[in-house]
Amino acid sequence: MIIGGGVMGASALYHLASRGTRSVVLLEREETYGTGATGRCAGGVRYQFSTEINVKLSQASLPMIESFRDEIGQDVNYRQCGYLLIATTEEDAAAFRRNVKLQNSLGVQTELLSGDEVRARLPQMRFDDALAGTFHQKDGLVDPNSVVNGYISAAQRLGAKALTNAAVTGIRVSKGKIEEVATRAGSIKTRTVINAAGPWAGVVGEMAGVHIPIVPLRRQMFTTSPMPEIPRSFPFVIDFSQSLYFHREGEGLLVGMSNPNEKPGFDQNVDEDFELVNLDSAALRLPMLERAGRASHWAGLYEVTPDAHPIFGGTPVDGFTVVAGFSGHGFMHGPVAGKLAAEYSLDGSFRSVDVSALDLARFEEGRLIQEYNVV
Ligand SMILES: Cc1cc2nc3c(=O)[nH]c(=O)nc-3n(C[C@H](O)[C@H](O)[C@H](O)COP(=O)(O)OP(=O)(O)OC[C@H]3O[C@@H](n4cnc5c(N)ncnc54)[C@H](O)[C@@H]3O)c2cc1C
Repeated sequence: MIIGGGVMGASALYHLASRGTRSVVLLEREETYGTGATGRCAGGVRYQFSTEINVKLSQASLPMIESFRDEIGQDVNYRQCGYLLIATTEEDAAAFRRNVKLQNSLGVQTELLSGDEVRARLPQMRFDDALAGTFHQKDGLVDPNSVVNGYISAAQRLGAKALTNAAVTGIRVSKGKIEEVATRAGSIKTRTVINAAGPWAGVVGEMAGVHIPIVPLRRQMFTTSPMPEIPRSFPFVIDFSQSLYFHREGEGLLVGMSNPNEKPGFDQNVDEDFELVNLDSAALRLPMLERAGRASHWAGLYEVTPDAHPIFGGTPVDGFTVVAGFSGHGFMHGPVAGKLAAEYSLDGSFRSVDVSALDLARFEEGRLIQEYNVV
């Protein structure tokens, strides 16, 4: 059984079904799949990370997105506009240089740019203080709902089951083993549960008596009315020290910013006061925003772990495994993460990428691996 119908659960369901597991069922509490973090995310996919394991997850996952239509039968609108990360502090510029070295050594052709090169690439924006930038052309944008629904439909065609309006309310554990899962519609006997509940994975963990250190943290964004001055080739721009980002969305832009003072919680309403801070900061970088209208806005929850890396694999309860905690950059890793969850479930080990260091036990044992490129 899989709890959660976001990108992790949908991908795990498909990968279990594609390996012949028909008896698996996915339970999603909402009316439709992908309305949690996945459906609210910015859709960004990138190779640019600061740790080897995250680069390797991208190297396995992004090609799966490139071949999604051929394998899954669903177009996911992968636009390789590139990510342009901009450093405005010496500390970030030094980290960027280290990151590019690491990425290049792993075969990712990220370019290191000077401040002048950043300014030349973004004539519409004001980055007088840019010290350095990094750019990788194969980073870009993908449609999250198409990925989720593509996986769910493909899994169903293979005979797997997925249910909406099926909130899990309890998990019965006996002698250290999973016995039964309670839902609003009744109980289901099972020996295995994959916890793919994203920002709610900690709550689902508590149901089985397992502490999973995943904290929900609100993040929000808005889109603008059409801005014809923004070229088609406009990259996903990140003003790194402000966690402020811009990318094309339809004929306009999507603009987001992380509130450094946000407190953990499950509130998904837009914080209107912070939206003004976001708007002001964004307009300083892109003055033409003053003339654009707001088309829509929304908030969602990051699923944050203490080291900003996900949690894969087993827990102290037999049969209870986790694929969650991607800390705000999990959509892009969903394809391979679900495959890894299926591998762990069927083979007892990870084959596509060695993520054994990203186990739950690392938090108690002090084996944390910090990611620098968190937006
Ligand atoms: C504003 C924002 C911007 C982001 N931008 C990006 C980006 O550009 N690129 C990127 O890669 N990532 C991004 N992310 C992160 C990304 O969205 C997540 O890492 C990823 O979607 C997590 O997927 P998930 O399947 O683990 O969680 P979710 O998509 O949240 O899925 C979990 C599901 O579990 C269900 N559930 C919870 N409890 C229960 C229960 N008791 N019973 C049944 N079902 C339950 C929920 O309803 C939900 O559908 C962003 C996130 C946010 C919030």
